[in-house]
Amino acid sequence: MSKNIIIIGAGVAGVNAATKLVDNNFDGKITIIDMGKDPYRREYSEVMEGFLGAGGWSDGKLTYHTSIGGQLSKYCGRDKAMELFDSVIDNFKRFHPKPEEVQCSDPQAEPDFIKPYFGLRLFPVWHVGTDYLHEIGKNWYDYLVSKGVEFIWEQKVSSINFRTNEVVFKSVKPEFANMDDDGLFYDKLIFGVGKSGIDFGKQLAEQYNLPTEAKSVQIGVRFEAPQHHFQKLIDVSYDFKLYKKFDEEGVSLRSFCTNNNAAYVAVEETYGDHSYNGHAKKDESFRNDMTNFGILMEIKGIDDPFIWSRDAVKKLQIDNTGTYYSPTRKPSTTSEGNDVSAIQVDDLNPLHDSLGEYAQYIIDFIEDMKKVFPTLKDDWGVYMPEVKYLSPEPLVDYTNLALNTYPDVHFVGDALSARGITVSGAQGTYAAEYILKDLDI
Ligand SMILES: Cc1cc2nc3c(=O)[nH]c(=O)nc-3n(C[C@H](O)[C@H](O)[C@H](O)COP(=O)(O)OP(=O)(O)OC[C@H]3O[C@@H](n4cnc5c(N)ncnc54)[C@H](O)[C@@H]3O)c2cc1C
Repeated sequence: MSKNIIIIGAGVAGVNAATKLVDNNFDGKITIIDMGKDPYRREYSEVMEGFLGAGGWSDGKLTYHTSIGGQLSKYCGRDKAMELFDSVIDNFKRFHPKPEEVQCSDPQAEPDFIKPYFGLRLFPVWHVGTDYLHEIGKNWYDYLVSKGVEFIWEQKVSSINFRTNEVVFKSVKPEFANMDDDGLFYDKLIFGVGKSGIDFGKQLAEQYNLPTEAKSVQIGVRFEAPQHHFQKLIDVSYDFKLYKKFDEEGVSLRSFCTNNNAAYVAVEETYGDHSYNGHAKKDESFRNDMTNFGILMEIKGIDDPFIWSRDAVKKLQIDNTGTYYSPTRKPSTTSEGNDVSAIQVDDLNPLHDSLGEYAQYIIDFIEDMKKVFPTLKDDWGVYMPEVKYLSPEPLVDYTNLALNTYPDVHFVGDALSARGITVSGAQGTYAAEYILKDLDI
């Protein structure tokens, strides 16, 4: 009998899952529902929604190591994880207009000058190139459509009945606000709503009382400075990841998602609050000779990390906007030439108010950078906050990422435990592999 697979979210995880299914001649029906638009109509301002999700307008850096980007080897072991990463990278190359330009950087040596203060995580990264993501999206979309995948665009899923296997959704267009909800039934459901759907995941976790994994808080700031201060390190490791660990205190810090040359800060809106991220443009015309990265702090042992993080994020908002502090600088502009939306504050007191004693770890991190990069001095700024909401992560069957109590429902990507393109895509592929086996295809 023909089977119905519904994928919620046409992001990196959902799209890789669908690709795995059609590449293996899945002959049932695949429907992908997304609240954003197809790659031909998606606008640059739609950062988190539409074909390829947050990955569609991302920095196109595909990390290639199991210690980066969230959990995967926890579920399937390192070797399988690397195999799944390869399939995601192959997909990005396959739909790339110039696949020969996809290059891997693989820094090897940790330089001595950072050693007294920081460790440096070294791992390979495949660079797809931000400016190609649009074309990749179109080619990939055309392929899936040609294989019979049905996309339902600009429809937001508002509820799922795990007992009757029904998904309920509705148009996001204001002119259809009075229309009734639509519904579809599934045999298998892939839930890949990414960060933009995190509140929906939480709603389901509460509604169905889903058991969750213990998580830590991940919060900090997006740091920005002229690139020349960091050039000595960039020459060794382009996407450098500095880290510091305080094992006894249950705290560790790392620089996260480094962008150089044409580096821009981007606002993310989650739960109506601002937080910050960064991306780089490849085109020389965007060059601003800036570097930015998150200084992300992981704090273990907080009782309800999700509520704690939400509360901390709220304290860093002024008039529903995030905050910016610099001893000497002004907030910079986005790649579209607009001001980065942030209210400038006179000191780092808001960080203390938000994070309490933990603020000092971030301040010390910056002070140590000033020692390691002596020209930096006061020539930097921080956008507050940068946050990764790691909660809730439903407990899944590690062999297929399905909910323990609802085995037809697979959680994948940032909606589960991923934090990046490669791991999200790999989780989608992993769930699809299982579905193919389970349906005996
Ligand atoms: C500015 C920026 C730059 C980034 N750069 C990088 C990078 O260089 N490298 C890297 O590894 N990672 C990067 N990331 C993170 C990366 O993009 C994500 O980790 C990845 O896209 C997650 O994949 P996903 O499929 O889980 O979710 P997403 O790709 O976010 O896709 C989720 C999809 O679900 C849809 N959706 C959500 N809720 C609903 C609903 N209720 N109904 C219908 N549809 C819904 C959304 O519209 C979206 O299309 C970046 C993120 C941002 C914001």
